[in-house]
Amino acid sequence: MIVTRTVAETRSALEPAHREGSVGLVPTMGALHDGHRSLLGAARAENDTVVMSLFVNPAQFGDSADLSTYPQDEQRDLAAAEKAGVDLVFAPPPDEMYPPGFQTWVEVTELGSTLEGEFRPGHFRGVATIVLKLFEITRPSRAYFGQKDAQQAAVVRTLIRDLALGVELRVLPTVRDADGLALSSRNALLSPAERERALALPRALQTRDRDRALAILGATDGVEVDYVEVAAFDPPVLAGAVRVGSTRLIDNVVLEGGQIA
Ligand code: AMP
Repeated sequence: MIVTRTVAETRSALEPAHREGSVGLVPTMGALHDGHRSLLGAARAENDTVVMSLFVNPAQFGDSADLSTYPQDEQRDLAAAEKAGVDLVFAPPPDEMYPPGFQTWVEVTELGSTLEGEFRPGHFRGVATIVLKLFEITRPSRAYFGQKDAQQAAVVRTLIRDLALGVELRVLPTVRDADGLALSSRNALLSPAERERALALPRALQTRDRDRALAILGATDGVEVDYVEVAAFDPPVLAGAVRVGSTRLIDNVVLEGGQIA
């Protein structure tokens, strides 16, 4: 497995891969768990070359405390990537992605300003910009995203369509722990008691009914609701975001017989 730090070395390392076959890209912020492993497994099965990016993108964090507490363990992530059959990990320092004087942003205007975008202004601008830049650097045939972040997948789908990026978007089902909590790098920040309270989110969304979900969350001490909304993504979902202590969690369930859980 090759690890690259710069745009230039990534481009040159991938030249033969582009000549020879398909390239699958799995963008991550690290702290890899079984949700990421599911994306890496699909990418491995469907492409000749698998690229994983490992970059905690500062532009998608509004809150500096959220950025500074985000779990990071590069050695562990590189070992997990290697085990998953990744061919190349692109793990740039922030300056490589945001060089001094950086001022060019991509904004998915409407979709990016609702739900998560409303509670995290600028978040999807950061996501869309870094995803476009990662696509441009690695030129994937396919890119892999999780349904866990349903709005992110919708934003990327719109970005690909609007800018004719020619990348096939693959969205994989949400991977959950046995107790129902969707796997997330931020789960590591929950105390045992907070984790117990956080289970109200998947339980509430499983009702597939906004009012019932809000009632369940409203009856749970220590859970603050940002929103629970039906979102007309493809497929449509009931999506929710809550805060448990200082950790913010999002989750969603597919509505109307959609294929992705
Ligand atoms: P992150 O490292 O949190 O930015 O996530 C990288 C990718 O993994 C994104 O496309 C996420 O949607 C996806 N992902 C995160 N958690 C899960 C999960 N529990 N199940 C499936 N995919 C996930």
